[in-house]
Amino acid sequence: MSTELPKPKRLTHVEAPPDLRQFLLEVAEKIAQGDEDTLIESDDLLQCDFAYGGLADEETGEYGFTYFPGKSRKTKWEILLLAKQIREVADGERELSLWACEDENCGSMFSLAEERCSQCDYEHEVRALPSGDFSTRRDWALAYFALHPEAHPMQMIGDYNGETEWGEKLGYFSLTEATELETISQSLKRN
Ligand SMILES: [Zn+2]
Repeated sequence: MSTELPKPKRLTHVEAPPDLRQFLLEVAEKIAQGDEDTLIESDDLLQCDFAYGGLADEETGEYGFTYFPGKSRKTKWEILLLAKQIREVADGERELSLWACEDENCGSMFSLAEERCSQCDYEHEVRALPSGDFSTRRDWALAYFALHPEAHPMQMIGDYNGETEWGEKLGYFSLTEATELETISQSLKRN
């Protein structure tokens, strides 16, 4: 359960990082060539490892991009630009004007002030997480399901990815693995 609770954001002017500029340069070239992927409205026809986007609005000619500036997918920039502005940002002639979350641990920024940040603008129900040391993610999951027998495997994955540093250490769950561990946890409880 989560409740919307928007926090104020701060208008920030930043230069696009080199990898983003490179991506936007490729986009600008596709637009110049009339590439079909730049003409159809979509949010992901244009993509690379750290960003995706597409033509957001045929009428206004605005393109929307989601960019991940760091390793973690928690921090993202939601960027709206016209074709001409894409080229200018790629060429380093234009800064991005984005509304940044005030929480410095977040780092997410948005072209639209009213955009919601999934990290900052919702009040999440706080669930206790397993404490102690774990040498495998399986042990972490079993401890989690022991605390929250009613939790859905997706919820376990969300809490694992979102609120702990375990992922980098012990790797990440697939849904299949998480579902198996939930089943194991339930059979352990019955015995
Ligand atoms: Zn945020």
